[in-house]
Amino acid sequence: MLRFAPSPTGDMHIGNLRVAIFNYIVAKQRNERFLIRIEDTDIERNIEGKDREILEILQIFDLKYDDVVYQSQNFSFHQNFAKKLLEEHKAFACFCTPEELEAEREKAKKEKRAYRYSGKCEEITLQEAEKRGKPFVVRIKKPKSPITFTDIVKGELSFDPNEVDSFVILRADGRPTYNFACAIDDMLYDISLIIRGEDHVSNTPKQIHIRQQLGYDKEIQYAHLPIILNAQGKKMSKRESASSVKWLLHEGFLPQAIANYLILLGNKTPKEIFTLDEAIQWFDLSSISKAPAKFDLDKLRFINRAHLERLSPQELAKRLGIHESLGELAKLYLEEASTLKELKAKLDAIFGQRDFGEFEEEAKILKEQILSMELPEDFESFKKELMQRSGLKGKRFFKPLRLLLTGAPHGPEISQLYPLLKDHIKGIVQ
Ligand code: GLU
Repeated sequence: MLRFAPSPTGDMHIGNLRVAIFNYIVAKQRNERFLIRIEDTDIERNIEGKDREILEILQIFDLKYDDVVYQSQNFSFHQNFAKKLLEEHKAFACFCTPEELEAEREKAKKEKRAYRYSGKCEEITLQEAEKRGKPFVVRIKKPKSPITFTDIVKGELSFDPNEVDSFVILRADGRPTYNFACAIDDMLYDISLIIRGEDHVSNTPKQIHIRQQLGYDKEIQYAHLPIILNAQGKKMSKRESASSVKWLLHEGFLPQAIANYLILLGNKTPKEIFTLDEAIQWFDLSSISKAPAKFDLDKLRFINRAHLERLSPQELAKRLGIHESLGELAKLYLEEASTLKELKAKLDAIFGQRDFGEFEEEAKILKEQILSMELPEDFESFKKELMQRSGLKGKRFFKPLRLLLTGAPHGPEISQLYPLLKDHIKGIVQ
């Protein structure tokens, strides 16, 4: 089984979405189930409704999942496993106060070394701890030898016992920490491969250590995806609008184009424009570049336009929320726009207010004639008749005519627009 494990603590960003897409693709390729696990252990940071929003986004991107679970439903399992580790002396009760720990952290910082737990409470037995009658956290004892694993993207990785450290697995109120809950749940749901962002690389040896101590010896594969950088080469912050999936959708990028772009990013693919289903045929996790990927909005625009072009006029009209009969017209305007929002603005101009500038007078004449004409089928006849009736020609004919018909000084060829607009023209020029 594969899983996508979002925390309901903020908006879904493109890094999260990329992880979800990759997990979905590999689950399909391996014919394994795909689980969504909402990691809601950090109660203070959870935001009401974010879980539903994440599930909605997965639906918008057509990432079908088999099940949704909430990590908090498994607290009793986490607690029982912590108890087992305590009983087997693989974990210990720690009574160090936050102040003591903070002082040690400060000291380490001053001495310019990485902070490690002092080991002070390591020898306290469970009986002794219970006798004290005071709250305590549970720490797992650090490993005795290095923890190594092979990452599908990053290759062989090894972590010293001190890097893993004796870390907290259960908080004083009995809630598991992220690493503990995650390690246990991956074991409980028989996860075969974990694909996630590389910000989790240092958590992996901790999670492997937890499962090893519990005697779980089934190997879980890992693939940590390189971070996504912005155009300036800096880590893309959650505050940058382009990193927000909601923002991209709102700007009029199609889900299939965003998915296409995120699969293409830092990857070798047999083609540039493709669908999710096509990617399932050839996607190869091991071909993902180790180097950070650079987010390029212009490239995404290019891909979006290619996907907009693939839509039928009816589909395009539906996406734009306009009448189906305007689908062909929208297609024509694609040469002028890369997103649904831009396209909508172009179409809105056709039906909106006009500013004729220096051609006010000519526009008035053309309007009168158009309203009194029987509109011919083809543009040539229309042009000829209107020229004759108005007595206008050249720039003084074409400029106001374009403004009159389209509401904009530039755009697709009027001869191409005319047949698509014909039935609307009298309404438009009114
Ligand atoms: N909840 C973690 C996050 O949103 C994911 C951890 C994981 O995939 O193991 O970053």
